[in-house]
Amino acid sequence: MTDDFSGRRRCDSFGRRIQWSNPVGWRGVRRLILLTMFIVGVTRVSNAQSQKLTFRSLSPIDAHAHSFNAASEFYALLDRLNLRILNICVVDKYERGYEEAAPQHAKALEIFHGSHGRAAWCSTFDPQDWESPGFADRTIQGLDKTFQDGAIAVKIYKSIGMELKSKDGKYLMLDNPVFAPLLEFIAEHNRTLVAHIAEPSAAWKPLDPASPHYSYYKANPDWHMYLHPERPSKEAILAARDRMVKQHPKLRVVGAHLGSMEDDVDQIARRFDALPNFAVDTAARVPDLMLQPREKVRAFLIKYQDRVLYATDLVSMPWDKLAETMKHWEEEYARDWKFFATDETLTYDGHTVRGLALPAPGIRKLFHNNALSWIPGLSNSSRGGKSKAPSSGHLQTRPFFANVPCL
Ligand SMILES: [Zn+2]
Repeated sequence: MTDDFSGRRRCDSFGRRIQWSNPVGWRGVRRLILLTMFIVGVTRVSNAQSQKLTFRSLSPIDAHAHSFNAASEFYALLDRLNLRILNICVVDKYERGYEEAAPQHAKALEIFHGSHGRAAWCSTFDPQDWESPGFADRTIQGLDKTFQDGAIAVKIYKSIGMELKSKDGKYLMLDNPVFAPLLEFIAEHNRTLVAHIAEPSAAWKPLDPASPHYSYYKANPDWHMYLHPERPSKEAILAARDRMVKQHPKLRVVGAHLGSMEDDVDQIARRFDALPNFAVDTAARVPDLMLQPREKVRAFLIKYQDRVLYATDLVSMPWDKLAETMKHWEEEYARDWKFFATDETLTYDGHTVRGLALPAPGIRKLFHNNALSWIPGLSNSSRGGKSKAPSSGHLQTRPFFANVPCL
């Protein structure tokens, strides 16, 4: 649109000069016509180029995945798609392979090197002993070691707010002062906090086969909050998360899974307006966007095009069937590309959806630039390099406008 508009305006301007006087002679007129044709041509070429954007051409970044199988097939997939990921460690004692942080850290580091830096990594900590003396110091020491090993972000998990309780029976919330020193440490070291706090609204409702989250809660009753009415409401958990984000304005916080506001982009918009250090990723919640009105979602993604990071939550574990897993990863990237970048029709889980056809600059930000600006360590961990710490010290309170190359 912008290109078209500026092209037409230039044409009008030349036309007027030609009509009112002819101080340059017919040779000059010819030059002006040729120049006009050149400008129109350039505009057309640039539109055509933007239409030819492909997933691969963007150097896409999946800002939220879990890959713990150091397989050459996985590295080949990253190369083939020209893809980088943020490989996220997380402690979930109900999920096989995620029970403890340390083995995941070791594997993520191995995969970082095996992928020649395409799989940057995000460390984590276990908040279970949060009431024991020295918790913050011990945790900081552990995180520091992961930073030295190249971790560029830290993940915190839904057990905070949904599960962990104090000895006197109160649920641990994210704005508890016990976390303040850790959060400041993360901010001081210019790392990003990836916050998976709360869950989809479906967790607080009876099982519904029509929900995209049905199979997860069917298989994971521990996280199905409907079965645990004594636990906090989603609103209370998100309110504590928001207070934490506000209390640490120099900390970049990426709310995983659309910040657990997956069923209403208006809720996300309200947080963006109030909290400049807050962004969200789309991990495992693209279907939730598909279920909302197309024009509303499209307008949201255009208005807040600096605040949403493309992500999938795809998983690859050593016991998974590798060929099937890689096929699934590739199909998911293809599906998501179709949804965000084209206006083609796609079907998902019985729903027929038309792609959003986002404008090219927004697509570049969603699939590439926003990950770099919100997780700046990604800039230093590109292919072949040794994992380096993000430059520390001068944090920006509005980091999403800084250091973003316009590609
Ligand atoms: Zn995840």
